[in-house]
Amino acid sequence: RAELLVLERFPAAQVNRSLQAWDSGDEYLLKTLVEQSLITPTTDAKKIAIFNDSFGALCCALSQQQVTFISDSYVATQGCKANLANNLLSQDNIEFCNSIEMPADKVDLVLVKLPKIKAHFHYQLQQIHRLCHDGTQIIIAGKAKEIHTSTLKLVEQQLGDCQTSLAWKKSRLIFVNRNVKLQAPLPELKQWQLNESGMPSLTISNHSNVFSRDSLDIGARFMMQHLPKVKTGSKVADLGCGNGVLGLALLQQQPDIKLHFFDESYMAVASAKINVEQNFPQQLSHCQFHWNDCLSQVEASSLDLVLCNPPFHQQQAVTDHIAWQMFQDCYQVLDSGGEVRIIGNRQLGYHVKLKRLFGNARVVSSNKKFVVLSAVKL
Ligand code: SAM
Repeated sequence: RAELLVLERFPAAQVNRSLQAWDSGDEYLLKTLVEQSLITPTTDAKKIAIFNDSFGALCCALSQQQVTFISDSYVATQGCKANLANNLLSQDNIEFCNSIEMPADKVDLVLVKLPKIKAHFHYQLQQIHRLCHDGTQIIIAGKAKEIHTSTLKLVEQQLGDCQTSLAWKKSRLIFVNRNVKLQAPLPELKQWQLNESGMPSLTISNHSNVFSRDSLDIGARFMMQHLPKVKTGSKVADLGCGNGVLGLALLQQQPDIKLHFFDESYMAVASAKINVEQNFPQQLSHCQFHWNDCLSQVEASSLDLVLCNPPFHQQQAVTDHIAWQMFQDCYQVLDSGGEVRIIGNRQLGYHVKLKRLFGNARVVSSNKKFVVLSAVKL
Protein backbone atom coordinates (compact mmCIF):
# COMPACT_ATOMS: atom_id res chain seq x y z
CA ARG A 1 0.00 0.00 0.00
CA ALA A 2 2.76 2.45 0.98
CA GLU A 3 4.40 2.15 -2.44
CA LEU A 4 1.25 3.47 -4.06
CA LEU A 5 1.15 6.63 -1.98
CA VAL A 6 2.48 10.03 -2.93
CA LEU A 7 3.76 11.61 0.30
CA GLU A 8 4.97 15.18 0.83
CA ARG A 9 6.57 16.86 3.81
CA PHE A 10 4.63 19.82 5.19
CA PRO A 11 4.42 22.60 4.22
CA ALA A 12 4.79 21.20 0.70
CA ALA A 13 6.74 24.12 -0.78
CA GLN A 14 9.94 23.50 1.19
CA VAL A 15 13.27 24.70 -0.13
CA ASN A 16 14.92 21.37 0.61
CA ARG A 17 12.90 19.11 -1.68
CA SER A 18 15.30 16.19 -1.28
CA LEU A 19 14.04 15.33 2.21
CA GLN A 20 11.55 12.46 2.23
CA ALA A 21 8.21 12.45 4.04
CA TRP A 22 8.79 8.89 5.34
CA ASP A 23 11.73 6.75 6.44
CA SER A 24 12.80 3.13 6.59
CA GLY A 25 11.23 2.81 10.07
CA ASP A 26 7.81 3.42 8.48
CA GLU A 27 8.56 0.87 5.75
CA TYR A 28 9.84 -1.69 8.26
CA LEU A 29 6.70 -1.34 10.39
CA LEU A 30 4.36 -1.74 7.42
CA LYS A 31 6.33 -4.65 5.99
CA THR A 32 6.22 -6.39 9.40
CA LEU A 33 2.46 -5.88 9.80
CA VAL A 34 1.96 -7.67 6.48
CA GLU A 35 4.56 -10.42 7.03
CA GLN A 36 3.19 -11.25 10.48
CA SER A 37 -0.42 -10.99 9.24
CA LEU A 38 -1.18 -8.39 11.88
CA ILE A 39 -3.19 -6.56 9.23
CA THR A 40 -4.91 -8.51 6.46
CA PRO A 41 -7.31 -7.27 3.79
CA THR A 42 -9.97 -9.76 4.84
CA THR A 43 -10.20 -9.21 8.60
CA ASP A 44 -12.26 -6.50 10.29
CA ALA A 45 -10.65 -3.09 10.72
CA LYS A 46 -8.31 -3.02 13.72
CA LYS A 47 -8.13 -0.19 16.20
CA ILE A 48 -4.64 1.24 15.87
CA ALA A 49 -2.94 4.06 17.79
CA ILE A 50 -0.04 5.66 15.92
CA PHE A 51 2.38 7.86 17.88
CA ASN A 52 4.69 10.42 16.21
CA ASP A 53 3.88 9.61 12.57
CA SER A 54 6.12 12.14 10.77
CA PHE A 55 3.91 13.29 7.90
CA GLY A 56 1.23 10.61 7.91
CA ALA A 57 2.98 7.79 6.00
CA LEU A 58 1.70 5.18 8.48
CA CYS A 59 -1.70 6.77 8.84
CA CYS A 60 -2.20 6.95 5.05
CA ALA A 61 -1.08 3.33 4.57
CA LEU A 62 -3.43 2.16 7.34
CA SER A 63 -6.33 4.51 6.67
CA GLN A 64 -8.72 1.58 6.06
CA GLN A 65 -8.29 0.63 9.74
CA GLN A 66 -9.63 2.63 12.69
CA VAL A 67 -6.67 4.86 13.37
CA THR A 68 -5.94 7.24 16.22
CA PHE A 69 -3.15 9.62 15.24
CA ILE A 70 -1.34 11.01 18.29
CA SER A 71 1.16 13.78 17.77
CA ASP A 72 2.64 16.78 19.57
CA SER A 73 3.35 18.42 16.24
CA TYR A 74 0.87 20.69 14.45
CA VAL A 75 3.01 20.44 11.30
CA ALA A 76 2.96 16.61 11.39
CA THR A 77 -0.81 16.65 11.94
CA GLN A 78 -1.38 19.03 9.01
CA GLY A 79 1.09 17.00 6.92
CA CYS A 80 -0.91 13.85 7.60
CA LYS A 81 -4.19 15.54 6.71
CA ALA A 82 -2.69 16.95 3.49
CA ASN A 83 -1.26 13.57 2.48
CA LEU A 84 -4.60 11.85 3.13
CA ALA A 85 -6.36 14.43 0.97
CA ASN A 86 -3.73 14.27 -1.82
CA ASN A 87 -4.08 10.50 -1.97
CA LEU A 88 -7.91 10.76 -1.96
CA LEU A 89 -8.07 8.84 1.34
CA SER A 90 -10.96 9.42 3.68
CA GLN A 91 -10.40 10.81 7.18
CA ASP A 92 -13.64 9.23 8.42
CA ASN A 93 -11.85 6.39 10.27
CA ILE A 94 -9.18 8.64 11.71
CA GLU A 95 -9.23 10.38 15.06
CA PHE A 96 -6.64 13.14 15.52
CA CYS A 97 -5.36 13.68 19.08
CA ASN A 98 -2.75 16.09 20.35
CA SER A 99 -0.01 14.82 22.67
CA ILE A 100 -1.88 15.44 25.91
CA GLU A 101 -5.43 14.32 25.20
CA MET A 102 -6.03 10.57 25.04
CA PRO A 103 -8.62 8.65 23.04
CA ALA A 104 -11.34 7.07 25.14
CA ASP A 105 -11.19 3.62 23.50
CA LYS A 106 -8.64 0.85 23.94
CA VAL A 107 -6.78 -0.22 20.79
CA ASP A 108 -5.59 -3.54 19.30
CA LEU A 109 -2.26 -2.32 18.00
CA VAL A 110 0.09 0.50 19.03
CA LEU A 111 2.72 1.73 16.56
CA VAL A 112 5.32 4.20 17.77
CA LYS A 113 8.00 6.13 15.92
CA LEU A 114 10.72 6.71 18.51
CA PRO A 115 10.58 10.37 19.59
CA LYS A 116 13.75 12.44 19.87
CA ILE A 117 13.42 13.44 23.51
CA LYS A 118 13.77 10.72 26.15
CA ALA A 119 11.42 12.44 28.62
CA HIS A 120 8.76 12.53 25.93
CA PHE A 121 9.26 8.83 25.19
CA HIS A 122 8.88 8.08 28.92
CA TYR A 123 5.60 10.05 28.94
CA GLN A 124 4.34 8.19 25.87
CA LEU A 125 5.25 4.76 27.28
CA GLN A 126 2.97 5.54 30.22
CA GLN A 127 0.27 6.88 27.88
CA ILE A 128 0.41 3.57 25.98
CA HIS A 129 -0.61 1.61 29.10
CA ARG A 130 -3.87 3.54 29.13
CA LEU A 131 -4.64 2.49 25.54
CA CYS A 132 -4.00 -1.23 25.90
CA HIS A 133 -6.24 -4.22 26.54
CA ASP A 134 -4.80 -7.67 27.33
CA GLY A 135 -4.20 -8.55 23.66
CA THR A 136 -2.81 -5.22 22.39
CA GLN A 137 0.37 -5.56 20.36
CA ILE A 138 3.00 -2.83 20.63
CA ILE A 139 5.76 -2.14 18.09
CA ILE A 140 8.23 0.75 18.28
CA ALA A 141 10.36 1.74 15.26
CA GLY A 142 13.50 3.83 15.27
CA LYS A 143 16.82 4.40 13.56
CA ALA A 144 19.19 1.63 14.71
CA LYS A 145 21.76 4.21 15.82
CA GLU A 146 19.15 5.90 18.04
CA ILE A 147 18.05 2.72 19.84
CA HIS A 148 20.51 2.52 22.73
CA THR A 149 20.71 0.16 25.70
CA SER A 150 19.17 3.02 27.73
CA THR A 151 16.23 3.17 25.29
CA LEU A 152 15.47 -0.54 25.81
CA LYS A 153 15.93 -0.17 29.57
CA LEU A 154 13.37 2.64 29.63
CA VAL A 155 10.90 0.51 27.68
CA GLU A 156 11.42 -2.38 30.12
CA GLN A 157 11.08 -0.14 33.17
CA GLN A 158 7.98 1.66 31.96
CA LEU A 159 6.06 -0.70 29.69
CA GLY A 160 7.34 -4.28 29.72
CA ASP A 161 9.89 -6.77 28.40
CA CYS A 162 10.98 -6.24 24.85
CA GLN A 163 12.80 -7.87 21.95
CA THR A 164 14.48 -6.04 19.10
CA SER A 165 14.48 -7.02 15.43
CA LEU A 166 17.51 -7.15 13.18
CA ALA A 167 18.40 -3.85 11.58
CA TRP A 168 16.83 -3.34 8.15
CA LYS A 169 17.79 -0.33 6.02
CA LYS A 170 19.32 1.18 9.19
CA SER A 171 16.09 0.89 11.22
CA ARG A 172 15.09 -1.50 13.97
CA LEU A 173 11.83 -2.50 15.61
CA ILE A 174 11.15 -3.10 19.30
CA PHE A 175 8.38 -5.57 20.15
CA VAL A 176 6.99 -5.03 23.64
CA ASN A 177 5.10 -7.41 25.95
CA ARG A 178 3.19 -5.03 28.16
CA ASN A 179 3.31 -5.65 31.89
CA VAL A 180 0.20 -4.08 33.40
CA LYS A 181 1.92 -3.80 36.80
CA LEU A 182 4.26 -1.17 35.37
CA GLN A 183 1.44 1.30 34.77
CA ALA A 184 2.18 4.41 36.83
CA PRO A 185 0.95 7.99 36.99
CA LEU A 186 1.97 10.08 33.97
CA PRO A 187 5.32 11.82 34.67
CA GLU A 188 4.93 15.27 36.19
CA LEU A 189 5.90 18.54 34.53
CA LYS A 190 9.52 19.59 34.96
CA GLN A 191 9.66 22.78 37.03
CA TRP A 192 12.52 25.20 37.68
CA GLN A 193 13.03 28.74 38.89
CA LEU A 194 14.08 31.39 36.42
CA ASN A 195 16.36 33.70 38.44
CA GLU A 196 17.85 36.26 36.09
CA SER A 197 19.62 39.31 37.47
CA GLY A 198 17.35 42.33 37.63
CA MET A 199 14.21 40.21 37.30
CA PRO A 200 11.94 38.77 40.00
CA SER A 201 12.03 34.98 40.06
CA LEU A 202 9.58 33.06 37.82
CA THR A 203 8.47 29.44 38.12
CA ILE A 204 8.77 27.72 34.73
CA SER A 205 6.85 24.48 34.11
CA ASN A 206 7.60 22.26 31.13
CA HIS A 207 5.76 19.38 29.53
CA SER A 208 7.98 16.52 28.39
CA ASN A 209 8.51 17.57 24.76
CA VAL A 210 9.34 21.23 25.31
CA PHE A 211 12.55 22.77 23.96
CA SER A 212 15.13 23.34 26.72
CA ARG A 213 12.81 21.82 29.33
CA ASP A 214 15.52 21.37 31.96
CA SER A 215 16.96 24.88 32.06
CA LEU A 216 16.96 28.23 30.29
CA ASP A 217 18.41 28.12 26.75
CA ILE A 218 21.57 30.26 26.58
CA GLY A 219 20.32 32.01 23.45
CA ALA A 220 17.04 32.86 25.17
CA ARG A 221 18.99 34.23 28.15
CA PHE A 222 20.94 36.60 25.89
CA MET A 223 17.75 37.67 24.07
CA MET A 224 16.01 38.41 27.40
CA GLN A 225 18.69 41.01 28.11
CA HIS A 226 17.84 42.83 24.88
CA LEU A 227 14.06 43.09 24.71
CA PRO A 228 12.57 46.19 23.11
CA LYS A 229 10.32 48.79 24.73
CA VAL A 230 6.84 48.89 23.22
CA LYS A 231 3.84 51.22 23.55
CA THR A 232 1.04 50.43 26.03
CA GLY A 233 -1.49 48.05 24.47
CA SER A 234 0.93 46.83 21.76
CA LYS A 235 0.14 43.49 20.13
CA VAL A 236 3.09 41.17 20.52
CA ALA A 237 3.82 37.58 19.41
CA ASP A 238 6.24 35.13 21.00
CA LEU A 239 6.84 32.99 17.90
CA GLY A 240 8.14 29.45 18.55
CA CYS A 241 7.43 30.19 22.20
CA GLY A 242 8.51 26.86 23.77
CA ASN A 243 7.70 27.31 27.47
CA GLY A 244 7.12 31.02 26.78
CA VAL A 245 10.22 32.46 28.50
CA LEU A 246 10.70 35.33 26.03
CA GLY A 247 7.06 36.43 26.22
CA LEU A 248 7.08 36.05 30.02
CA ALA A 249 10.18 38.24 30.31
CA LEU A 250 8.52 40.96 28.22
CA LEU A 251 5.30 40.66 30.19
CA GLN A 252 7.29 41.11 33.39
CA GLN A 253 8.86 44.34 32.10
CA GLN A 254 5.73 45.65 30.35
CA PRO A 255 2.53 44.13 31.76
CA ASP A 256 0.17 46.26 29.65
CA ILE A 257 0.65 44.46 26.31
CA LYS A 258 -1.50 41.95 24.40
CA LEU A 259 0.59 38.84 24.03
CA HIS A 260 0.14 35.88 21.65
CA PHE A 261 2.15 32.68 22.12
CA PHE A 262 2.67 30.46 19.03
CA ASP A 263 4.28 27.07 18.72
CA GLU A 264 3.84 23.97 16.57
CA SER A 265 4.39 21.78 19.65
CA TYR A 266 1.17 21.28 21.61
CA MET A 267 3.14 20.70 24.79
CA ALA A 268 4.99 23.98 24.28
CA VAL A 269 1.78 25.98 23.92
CA ALA A 270 0.25 24.19 26.93
CA SER A 271 3.39 24.91 29.01
CA ALA A 272 3.41 28.60 28.03
CA LYS A 273 -0.22 28.83 29.17
CA ILE A 274 0.56 27.22 32.54
CA ASN A 275 3.48 29.63 32.96
CA VAL A 276 1.32 32.70 32.40
CA GLU A 277 -1.34 31.29 34.75
CA GLN A 278 1.27 30.63 37.46
CA ASN A 279 3.33 33.79 37.17
CA PHE A 280 1.01 36.46 35.77
CA PRO A 281 -2.58 35.45 36.56
CA GLN A 282 -3.75 39.08 36.21
CA GLN A 283 -2.42 39.21 32.64
CA LEU A 284 -3.94 35.91 31.54
CA SER A 285 -6.93 37.60 29.91
CA HIS A 286 -4.50 39.62 27.72
CA CYS A 287 -2.76 36.49 26.47
CA GLN A 288 -3.70 34.00 23.77
CA PHE A 289 -2.14 30.64 22.98
CA HIS A 290 -1.99 29.17 19.47
CA TRP A 291 -0.99 25.68 18.25
CA ASN A 292 0.05 26.64 14.74
CA ASP A 293 2.61 26.52 11.93
CA CYS A 294 4.63 29.76 12.22
CA LEU A 295 2.14 32.67 11.93
CA SER A 296 0.23 31.13 9.04
CA GLN A 297 -3.22 31.96 10.39
CA VAL A 298 -2.56 35.48 11.66
CA GLU A 299 -4.23 38.45 9.98
CA ALA A 300 -1.93 40.62 7.86
CA SER A 301 -0.63 43.87 9.45
CA SER A 302 -2.10 42.98 12.87
CA LEU A 303 0.99 42.87 15.16
CA ASP A 304 3.44 45.48 16.50
CA LEU A 305 6.26 43.20 17.62
CA VAL A 306 7.39 39.60 17.11
CA LEU A 307 9.99 38.00 19.39
CA CYS A 308 11.62 34.83 18.07
CA ASN A 309 14.37 32.34 18.85
CA PRO A 310 13.94 30.28 15.64
CA PRO A 311 14.37 26.50 15.39
CA PHE A 312 16.97 25.11 13.04
CA HIS A 313 15.64 21.59 12.55
CA GLN A 314 12.36 19.92 11.57
CA GLN A 315 11.94 16.53 13.22
CA GLN A 316 15.40 14.92 12.66
CA ALA A 317 16.42 17.12 9.72
CA VAL A 318 18.62 20.21 10.13
CA THR A 319 17.11 22.95 8.01
CA ASP A 320 16.69 26.72 7.98
CA HIS A 321 13.42 26.64 6.07
CA ILE A 322 11.35 27.16 9.24
CA ALA A 323 13.31 30.28 10.20
CA TRP A 324 12.83 31.56 6.65
CA GLN A 325 9.08 30.82 6.82
CA MET A 326 8.91 32.56 10.21
CA PHE A 327 10.60 35.71 8.87
CA GLN A 328 8.30 35.79 5.82
CA ASP A 329 5.25 35.41 8.07
CA CYS A 330 6.57 38.18 10.35
CA TYR A 331 6.76 40.52 7.39
CA GLN A 332 3.14 39.71 6.50
CA VAL A 333 1.64 40.08 9.98
CA LEU A 334 3.56 43.14 11.22
CA ASP A 335 1.91 46.51 10.89
CA SER A 336 4.02 49.24 9.29
CA GLY A 337 6.55 50.42 11.86
CA GLY A 338 6.32 46.98 13.54
CA GLU A 339 9.48 45.15 14.57
CA VAL A 340 10.74 41.57 14.52
CA ARG A 341 13.47 40.88 17.08
CA ILE A 342 15.33 37.60 16.84
CA ILE A 343 18.27 35.75 18.31
CA GLY A 344 20.47 33.39 16.34
CA ASN A 345 23.88 31.75 16.27
CA ARG A 346 26.26 34.16 14.57
CA GLN A 347 27.02 31.80 11.68
CA LEU A 348 23.38 31.24 10.67
CA GLY A 349 23.24 34.37 8.53
CA TYR A 350 19.79 35.54 9.67
CA HIS A 351 20.95 39.10 9.06
CA VAL A 352 21.01 38.50 5.29
CA LYS A 353 17.56 36.90 5.32
CA LEU A 354 15.99 39.75 7.29
CA LYS A 355 17.60 42.36 5.07
CA ARG A 356 16.30 40.64 1.95
CA LEU A 357 12.73 40.65 3.31
CA PHE A 358 12.55 43.90 5.27
CA GLY A 359 15.17 45.99 3.44
CA ASN A 360 16.87 46.59 6.81
CA ALA A 361 18.39 44.67 9.73
CA ARG A 362 20.19 46.09 12.76
CA VAL A 363 22.48 44.31 15.20
CA VAL A 364 21.06 45.08 18.66
CA SER A 365 23.80 43.18 20.47
CA SER A 366 26.18 40.29 19.97
CA ASN A 367 28.55 38.08 21.90
CA LYS A 368 30.94 35.31 20.85
CA LYS A 369 28.11 32.90 20.00
CA PHE A 370 24.91 34.85 19.39
CA VAL A 371 23.57 37.91 17.70
CA VAL A 372 20.31 39.73 18.50
CA LEU A 373 18.85 41.31 15.37
CA SER A 374 16.02 43.72 14.73
CA ALA A 375 14.21 44.49 11.48
CA VAL A 376 11.39 47.00 11.03
CA LYS A 377 8.59 46.87 8.48
CA LEU A 378 8.79 50.24 6.74
N1 SAM B 1 11.24 30.58 22.53
C1 SAM B 1 11.73 29.42 23.24
C2 SAM B 1 13.06 29.73 23.91
O1 SAM B 1 13.67 30.75 23.53
O2 SAM B 1 13.47 28.97 24.80
C3 SAM B 1 11.88 28.22 22.30
C4 SAM B 1 12.84 28.45 21.14
S1 SAM B 1 13.24 26.96 20.23
C5 SAM B 1 14.81 27.37 19.59
C6 SAM B 1 12.23 27.04 18.79
C7 SAM B 1 10.76 26.73 18.99
O3 SAM B 1 10.11 26.82 17.71
C8 SAM B 1 10.45 25.36 19.54
O4 SAM B 1 9.63 25.48 20.66
C9 SAM B 1 9.70 24.65 18.40
O5 SAM B 1 8.70 23.74 18.84
C10 SAM B 1 9.10 25.83 17.65
N2 SAM B 1 8.76 25.55 16.24
C11 SAM B 1 9.38 24.70 15.38
N3 SAM B 1 8.77 24.72 14.19
C12 SAM B 1 7.74 25.59 14.29
C13 SAM B 1 6.73 26.03 13.40
N4 SAM B 1 6.67 25.56 12.15
N5 SAM B 1 5.81 26.90 13.84
C14 SAM B 1 5.86 27.37 15.12
N6 SAM B 1 6.79 26.99 16.02
C15 SAM B 1 7.73 26.11 15.60
